[in-house]
Amino acid sequence: MGNFGKLILVPTPIGNLGDITLRAISVLKEADIILAEDTRVSSRLLHHFEIDKKLWVHHKFNEHKAVGSLVSKIQEGNKVILISDAGTPGISDPGFLLVRACIENDIEVECLPGPTALIPALAVSGLPTEKFVFEGFLPQKKGRQTRLIQLSEETRTMVFYESPYRLVKCLSQFTEFFGKARNACVCRELSKMFEEIKRGTVEELAQYYTANPPKGEIVIVVEGVSKEDRKSGKTASDE
Ligand code: SAM
Repeated sequence: MGNFGKLILVPTPIGNLGDITLRAISVLKEADIILAEDTRVSSRLLHHFEIDKKLWVHHKFNEHKAVGSLVSKIQEGNKVILISDAGTPGISDPGFLLVRACIENDIEVECLPGPTALIPALAVSGLPTEKFVFEGFLPQKKGRQTRLIQLSEETRTMVFYESPYRLVKCLSQFTEFFGKARNACVCRELSKMFEEIKRGTVEELAQYYTANPPKGEIVIVVEGVSKEDRKSGKTASDE
């Protein structure tokens, strides 16, 4: 049998370094090639865990171009690891194109379970977790309104990533498109020293963050529309 390479996606902490898994450390130590989004960010992480490996740059600007040669490297028998700046690669981060190219070339792909921001936010929100939809970042300009109109019909709990600079605008738009009584939860700086979880209606949260401009990284979890409200055609403007 030949020496088969593979692609392994390795999640890294979203803030607290203690969240790295034992398996992530050992897999990183055995890598032939580690692909990282920002080599300065990832070398600090590797240094902390005494992993002495050279990093290759793999980010959204070179991902398209790099995929072909990476597939060849894996086919030559290399164990290639993909990490991102934080959390799980491929989740609002580069990764999908490489995973798809590997699958198309019959290359084994593995993803270690590990840190990601959306799951702790959903679990702590107090909103239904049985069914949910991950929306990642909303479009910043073009297509944003259309997406919000579509999402006003969504019955499942919704999870969004948002920057602190757009949080108030985003919550105000949720008030406008989903109705002011819609429940939500803002999770800021998960796993870090200044972690903050705020629950309330989208209107209350918009008021709170207008008075207390936020810093740091943010996940917003929003309740879906109730089946009754959707059926009766009740919209935000009826409130
Ligand atoms: N791949 C990552 C994951 O698995 O969650 C997401 C990367 S995405 C570029 C970065 C966004 O994730 C941030 O803007 C924020 O919305 C969310 N995020 C990452 N770390 C977070 C944290 N510690 N607390 C809250 N949100 C976080």
